[in-house]
Amino acid sequence: MKTFYTTLLALFLGELSFAQPLIVLDAGHNPQQGGALGVRGIYEVDYNDRFVAELKPQLEKIGWQVVLTRKKNETVTLTERVQVANQQNADLFLSIHHDSAQEHYLQATEFLGKKTYQTRTPLGGSSLFISHLNGQPEKSYCLANAIGHNISVLGRSPALHHAEPIAGENRPLLNAEYGIYRYDNLAVLRGTQMPAVLLEVGVIPDKADEAYIDNPTHRKAIEKAIVQAVQSYATECISRSVTQTK
Ligand SMILES: [Zn+2]
Repeated sequence: MKTFYTTLLALFLGELSFAQPLIVLDAGHNPQQGGALGVRGIYEVDYNDRFVAELKPQLEKIGWQVVLTRKKNETVTLTERVQVANQQNADLFLSIHHDSAQEHYLQATEFLGKKTYQTRTPLGGSSLFISHLNGQPEKSYCLANAIGHNISVLGRSPALHHAEPIAGENRPLLNAEYGIYRYDNLAVLRGTQMPAVLLEVGVIPDKADEAYIDNPTHRKAIEKAIVQAVQSYATECISRSVTQTK
């Protein structure tokens, strides 16, 4: 469905797909390799799938066409995820993940008889990643900046542990206020030709942060923050550039 809004975007900005702008949503991981383990013994992939399933109709409502890299219960490789976005000639790519932390932040625990992990000290918040090897690094940063800004308005702090100078982390922090990092070799960001961002919605081995993102009101607010960032992308990111700090 082409709305007045998307027609305006296409006519005046010219850079988005004429008929209807298209975003590829990528729910990270798969049922065989579920990613991070949450404090309630639930793997990250389930949080990613739920978030993407809720986000998709909201983006469609503002006139974007949404293509998913994988359906729930489907396994696809990182290369296939990139291929979906490039073959569709998508305008934007957004990968949804839920975060963990290095081992020294975690301790073993149990939840309803399931062995799992929890953070030793509170460690929560959202973070965003872009790659300078992506086809559109400046616009990727601009989209990350808009998402990060809108999430910060919710009163949510950025997760800054990925900047710690230790093995497995040490990511250059481009924006400490919004938790935006540069991670050039993330496959789905590096291989995509369109602006691409990876969002870590929250830190699931952290009891408080897991409860926050499991709360439908809070989760919907984060989803709305993303929808508004995508909606403002055309005016904020195509017509003018936002300068990176690093
Ligand atoms: Zn992940």
